[in-house]
Amino acid sequence: MSENPGPRVRFAPSPTGYLHVGGARTALFSFLLARHAGGTFVLRIEDTDRARSSEEMTRSILDSMAWLGLDFDEGPHHQADGLERHRANALRLLENGAAYRCFCAPPEPGRSAGGETELCGCGRIPDDEAEGRAEAGEACALRFRVPAGETSWEDAVHGRRAVENEHVTDFVLLRSDGTPVYNLAVVSDDIEMEITYILRGDDHLSNTPKQIMLYEALGATLPTFAHVPMILGTDGKRLSKRHGATSVGAYRDQGILPEALFNFLALLGWSAGDDREIMDAAELIKAFSVGRILKKSAVFDPEKLTWLNRQHIERMPIDRLVELARGPLEEAGVPAAFIEASPERVLEVLDLVRERGNTVAAVALQAAPFLRDEIAYEPEAVARFWKRPAEAAELLRAVGYRLSTLDDFEPASLEPVIRQLASDKEVGAGKVIHPLRVAVMGTGVSPEIFAVLSLMGRERTLERIQQALGYLDAMASAKLAETGEPPAPDEEGQ
Ligand code: GLU
Repeated sequence: MSENPGPRVRFAPSPTGYLHVGGARTALFSFLLARHAGGTFVLRIEDTDRARSSEEMTRSILDSMAWLGLDFDEGPHHQADGLERHRANALRLLENGAAYRCFCAPPEPGRSAGGETELCGCGRIPDDEAEGRAEAGEACALRFRVPAGETSWEDAVHGRRAVENEHVTDFVLLRSDGTPVYNLAVVSDDIEMEITYILRGDDHLSNTPKQIMLYEALGATLPTFAHVPMILGTDGKRLSKRHGATSVGAYRDQGILPEALFNFLALLGWSAGDDREIMDAAELIKAFSVGRILKKSAVFDPEKLTWLNRQHIERMPIDRLVELARGPLEEAGVPAAFIEASPERVLEVLDLVRERGNTVAAVALQAAPFLRDEIAYEPEAVARFWKRPAEAAELLRAVGYRLSTLDDFEPASLEPVIRQLASDKEVGAGKVIHPLRVAVMGTGVSPEIFAVLSLMGRERTLERIQQALGYLDAMASAKLAETGEPPAPDEEGQ
């Protein structure tokens, strides 16, 4: 074991499914707790249920943790490796009288083997008789003999909790096939791994008294327990598949960034105590304390997750954004070779549009028109802003003419030219800007147009205006043929 004096905190997932939001938050809080106090974060895969556990799920849990940045210091330990120790612990309890042999038939299939059954009479069978029956080959389980009295503990989230032991039935430790039951395995492992702090979901609250009895019967020091309230959907019901994606992998596939999910999970039932919400891992580690975990259930609000994702996209180092956007840019038609050859340009464009999408893929879509040669006109933008093609063409011709005479293509030089043109034509600036945006971007919305033109550059801007004029002239002729409407007079340019 390490010499580290800080708390030893474990995350103990069962590999029976993907890492879901609840498990990820337990892992995250445990990680923050260990890191904040300079302790040790231990990972233990609870794979004793062979039928329901799988290697594939173990791998996917490890992947999700790595993706989120939940690095453990020890492990992964596998609970199944501790089988002999679990049995030895149970036998010790049998020897010291804290457990007894139970010869009742194993529960019907479908009933929990370690669950609460009506107290059988086996606890009253004299030791030598029970031993004789076991030696004669009669199948038996080992059951814990719940002592009289009360079991209590100071929960780090819920405060003092206590149960009268008479409400706890003698519980199975080892099934008759020799397999350990969860409460035994978990206590045996936590003692062996010198875990000092157990943070887990409050669905385990009912197990805690039994586990405390086992610590006491085994003469081990109790860890601190912190039970984290459950997570609800926005409808107030327990979070489940009905609410949409619940696994970490599904959020990754939707374009949620690990730092955004990390931040979001940390705020599920915890707050820094000031008005900070957008926080990175280092800030969260620094600010975290179990004392600020709320007693009431947390509500999972997907809109907040989307919002946080956007905030992290806006704030991340631009180099990381460039790296993340590479794939999505290629998918949006920007050649890989161009991205390779012009990193500065990719960076500039992404920096301009980074605040315009909820995901990196959405940001890449905004960036693509600047970075690929071909332009695609969005049909909705054409229908809306090039509704009168002859009029739009006339304005664009004038824009092209005036822009071609400009020496510098900075936003501050472009703006007065466009505004002057609108005023000369006695139209609002929007009447010029909207058709111009469709011409250079193909879209109805974009970052501020003067920044767009500047970034697009003179050559490409003029080229696109020319291209748009061709398109608009064809539209105007088609319209004329259809309606007999004459094209608008050409005042400026050629
Ligand atoms: N393996 C248990 C689970 O996934 C957790 C056990 C514990 O944290 O004590 O629910």
